[in-house]
Amino acid sequence: MTRQLVLASHNAGKLRELQSLFDPGVQHLQLLSPQGLGLSEPDEPFHTFIENALHKARQASAATGLPALADDSGLAVVALVGAPGVHSATYAGAVKAEPGQAREALRQRQDAANIARLLRELQSLEASAPAATDRRARFVCTLVALRSAQDPEPLVAQGRWEGEILQQPRGQGGFGYDPVMWIPEAAATVAELGHEAKNSLSHRARAAAALREQMRAVWGWELGWA
Ligand code: IMP
Repeated sequence: MTRQLVLASHNAGKLRELQSLFDPGVQHLQLLSPQGLGLSEPDEPFHTFIENALHKARQASAATGLPALADDSGLAVVALVGAPGVHSATYAGAVKAEPGQAREALRQRQDAANIARLLRELQSLEASAPAATDRRARFVCTLVALRSAQDPEPLVAQGRWEGEILQQPRGQGGFGYDPVMWIPEAAATVAELGHEAKNSLSHRARAAAALREQMRAVWGWELGWA
């Protein structure tokens, strides 16, 4: 039996990763993109990842009448006391679309502006306290799945991934802060890792594995994963 889940995210990078993480290609689960269903981009009004993810999943389920999956995620840097956190997507302020600009091109400009601000903030801390500036950071991903907008028992899973912020971007893959997030065990930035390696190690991969297990145990969904 093929189950359907609508994804409550317009971020193409996240969509790509979640598609692979929830659909191993055995057609037990069909992930529906929000654009294809005519949904507008959800707002994120809360101070925590979990509240924003629940809000987005509920909106998507209410609009479509389908079970929904939402991802709220971000970067928390030690020297910045957890910033950019829930504001990761627009840390540099919302970049304005140029006339006729495609959504993905705008996202790339936004990502570049966010990285530039992050590097500036760390450099200015280092200028006054070089030894005390702690560049360790973590990616955080919170996933929420709902069977309906009124579901009283949402499934919730979190994943974390530790690294360190570099002085300069490296690598072309991934999205968001991937080019400046150095993973010591892999001796590479996330942007240098490639899609498959990222999807076996990342915060999103860890959250997805936990959520798939809950879908199996609580919802009785068999998704074809080991
Ligand atoms: P939101 O969950 O839509 O609020 O946005 C999450 C933001 O966090 C993205 O726009 C990225 O800037 C950042 N982010 C989340 N996950 C990742 C990731 O896997 N790599 C790099 N940046 C990420």
